[in-house]
This record gives sequence, structure tokens and C-alpha cells, in this order.
Amino acid sequence: MPEAIDQLRASLRGELIQPTDVAYDTARKVHNGMIDRSPAIIAKCADVADVMACVTFARDSKLLVSIRGGGHNAGGLGVCDGGLVIDLSRMKGVRADPATDTVRAEGGCVWGDVDHATHAFGMATPSGIISTTGVGGLTLGGGLGHLTRKCGLAIDNLLAVDMVLADGRFVTASEEENPDLYWAVRGGGGNFGVVTSFLFRTHAVKMVCAGPTLWPLERAAEVLRIYREFIVNAPEDVNGFFAFLMVPPAPIFPEHLHGKTMCGVVWCCTCSPEEADNALKPMRGFGPPAFDFVGPMPYPMLQSFFDPIYPPGLQWYWRADFVKELSDEAVALHVQHGSRLPTMLSTMHLYPINGAAHRAGNNDTAFSYRDSNWAQVIVGVDPDPANNPKTIAWTKEYWNALHPYSAGGAYVNFMMDEGEDRIKATYRDNYDRLAAIKAKYDPTNFFRVNQNIQPA
Ligand SMILES: Cc1cc2nc3c(=O)[nH]c(=O)nc-3n(C[C@H](O)[C@H](O)[C@H](O)COP(=O)(O)OP(=O)(O)OC[C@H]3O[C@@H](n4cnc5c(N)ncnc54)[C@H](O)[C@@H]3O)c2cc1C
Repeated sequence: MPEAIDQLRASLRGELIQPTDVAYDTARKVHNGMIDRSPAIIAKCADVADVMACVTFARDSKLLVSIRGGGHNAGGLGVCDGGLVIDLSRMKGVRADPATDTVRAEGGCVWGDVDHATHAFGMATPSGIISTTGVGGLTLGGGLGHLTRKCGLAIDNLLAVDMVLADGRFVTASEEENPDLYWAVRGGGGNFGVVTSFLFRTHAVKMVCAGPTLWPLERAAEVLRIYREFIVNAPEDVNGFFAFLMVPPAPIFPEHLHGKTMCGVVWCCTCSPEEADNALKPMRGFGPPAFDFVGPMPYPMLQSFFDPIYPPGLQWYWRADFVKELSDEAVALHVQHGSRLPTMLSTMHLYPINGAAHRAGNNDTAFSYRDSNWAQVIVGVDPDPANNPKTIAWTKEYWNALHPYSAGGAYVNFMMDEGEDRIKATYRDNYDRLAAIKAKYDPTNFFRVNQNIQPA
């Protein structure tokens, strides 16, 4: 084995890191500080050839493999114990092409890399709400964010991927080439191979009218009841995710609100400020909000708005569901649990899945919950591991109370390790087709450090 590792090291353009190396402890860390895994080898690949060499090496050595994009995964699926981490973080090439309204991003890009490249041309492609999240994991799970209602999910704008398969082959998946694989990677996660580059459609989005509107907790039930109708019927230019949050002591918030638990909506309107003001009237019309920071800003500014609040290394405990309807009972339970955030950074978000995201059907891509209206995520977050019992208990209690009102499954990118039944509930009748495609492209389940789909 040491000889084979030396050969692998010699064949890589990138860096190979082992437990005895100084860089090891930093390289094995992921965004979630709760994850503590010790791989045997971390390969910081520099190009596709490096990825192919890693796949061949791991297959020949019968070594477990994980794929690391941005390292943000809730359950820490970018890193594994005792195996080889194919770390793509050096593969950050981006090429925005205004002539074809596309952007090509290598597998290790984070969204800030893509936004920076596209913004120069007045373009954007849908991603999430934080610029440090990986393009790889977010896209392959679906991709929900500020532009969902206007442009659909990230996968709705994914035109092609280049991939290294379990047998070492390099293929493209698109509408024309390997269309079964193209269907599967749009929601099926990292089950099918290492995506070395993504080709996305871009849209003319440069300035947005965006920011948070906050209300006191006493109005939370009223806000949720108005929001549930509003966001399903709003113009597609209007996106807004609902949140319970504790106001951080950041300069944009008035001091008297610092540390207060409140509810709010974070807006992203792709129309003019006048049109946004007009569209948001129903959400403002039932009395002035406690804080309203909606205004024109460059799209990348919105995308990096929350980055400083969630730096790497915090302890994160996640629970999620898809939601079709917010009944009055569910609203009451949200207010009950959302009012008791256990720590400053803990939160509950409802991300809209409607507008343009409803144009595709449940079976058009692997993402099978197009008939839902929100992805709900409850996260207990804190820097101090000593607070984990508190944040975990709150998250579980909140989730247990609301789960009966959910649509069943959960967004794969918001799940930790919740077992096979939960994965099946998430893919519903797409699961069997995914399992058949898995059997074709990865029959030995070589790529299994993910929300795993067993080969049929
Ligand atoms: C602070 C924060 C904010 C978030 N906000 C959003 C949001 O707004 N919208 C949203 O949809 N999600 C969001 N997420 C969830 C996010 O989509 C998932 O955590 C996702 O897995 C992160 O992708 P990554 O590449 O950073 O993760 P990693 O941990 O690097 O990878 C996770 C898994 O994805 C797969 N993968 C990653 N890259 C590749 C690749 N190139 N080829 C093949 N497989 C790959 C692998 O299976 C890997 O195990 C957020 C997460 C965090 C921590």
C-alpha cells in the first residue's frame, strides 16, 4: 500500500495529504464543526486527470471514497473515515460566456466564484443563499435559493456535466449524451460519479431589490398566514424565504433589536425597485414591520450577505422536510417552537419551491417534490460544542412537532444521516429509476458516501 500511495502521489498534479502531514488536520475539516472524520488520504486534485487517477487507485485498493466540493454538507458527506477524499477545492476554473448565456464551473467552485465571474457580464445562475456553499453538492441535490421563483432550481439551469465514473471513464451527461445520467444527476446527489465541471444557463440578473424585513414575534402567526398565500401567488420576480431568527449584533440592524428573537422574510426581487415596492405591498400592508432593509443591491452582495454570520467550524444539527401546505395548526406549532430558538445562530427557514420551480414535474428530474411549496429546515447552530445537547434537543422537538404536517420526504441537501427509508421517502417513485441508473453506472456502489441510492 505505501508504494501504491507513492505512485499515486507521483501521478498527481495536485497535493496528496496523509495523517502525518502538517496540513492534514486542516484539510480534513468541513464546514460543520460537529463532523470529525479521519480519512487515510486526502487528494487535492488539480485537474480531471488527477480525479481519474484517484478513482482508479481507490478502486484497485478497495478504498472507500468521498467527494468533496465546497465541504458544506450537513452530514459531512465530503469527508470519510479511513478512505480517500477526492477533494476538488483546487478545481475552481469558471468561464462565463455572454455570447451563449452560459457559465461553466469546475467541480470545486463555490457559488461566490461563479457569481463573481457572471456578475461582470450582468448575468447570474440560480444557486443558494450563501456564497461559500459548494456548486457541486448544492447543484447535485437540487439547489434552492434567492432565484428559485424566477429561474427555477439550480438543476433546472444545468445544461451538462462532465463526470468521472466509477470505472474511471470520463463522460458528458446532457440532453443529448447519456440522458439517463443527466436525469439522475439533477437531484440524485453524488451517487453517480465525480462531476468535474458543470455547465449552467445564465439569466440577465445584475441588480436585485433585496434584503430582510423583520416583524416582532407577537405578529409571527399573522405574518406566516399572510406569507403562505402571498409567496405562492406572487409574481415570479419576487422570492422570499421565511425565517425565525435572533437578530445578530451586525451594524445594519438597529441596536435595540440586537439579540431579539423575531420572524422575517429575506427578499430577492429581480424587478425594478418600484415594481418590488408594489409587489411587496400585501406583506407590508398590515402594519409597519419592525425593520425593513429591502433596497437595490448587486446580486453577489445579497449572495454573500449572510456569509459572516455562518463562518466555517460552527456546530450544526439539521432536520428538514418538504411542505405543501401551511395549515393553521402548523403555523401555531411554528410560532411555538420558532419563538424558543436555543442559541443566537439557530434558525428555521422555509424556502419557496414554486414559481418557475413548478414548471418541471416530479419525474422530469430526480428531484421529486415539485408539488411541494417549501423546503423547511430547522437548524440548531452554535460555536460551542457544549451547547450541542440544547440545540439538538430543540431541533428534534421542533421537527417532531411539524413533521406530521409535512409532505413526507426532505431535501437531500438538508439531511444528516437519517437512513434508507428517509432517502426513499425523498425520491418517492423516482427511487427505482435512480437505482437502475446507479446499477448501470456504479454497480458496486463505489460512490456511497452520500445520501445513498443502492444499485438495483
Ligand atoms: C451555511 C449553509 C448554507 C446553505 N444554503 C443552502 C441553500 O441556500 N440552498 C441549498 O440548496 N442548499 C444549501 N445548503 C445545503 C447545501 O446544498 C449542502 O450542504 C451541499 O451538500 C453542499 O455542497 P458542497 O459541495 O459544499 O458540499 P460537500 O460537503 O463538499 O459535498 C457534499 C456531497 O455532495 C456531493 N458532491 C459535491 N461535489 C461533488 C462533485 N463535484 N461531484 C460529485 N459529487 C459531489 C458528494 O456526494 C458529497 O459527499 C447550505 C449549507 C450550509 C452549510
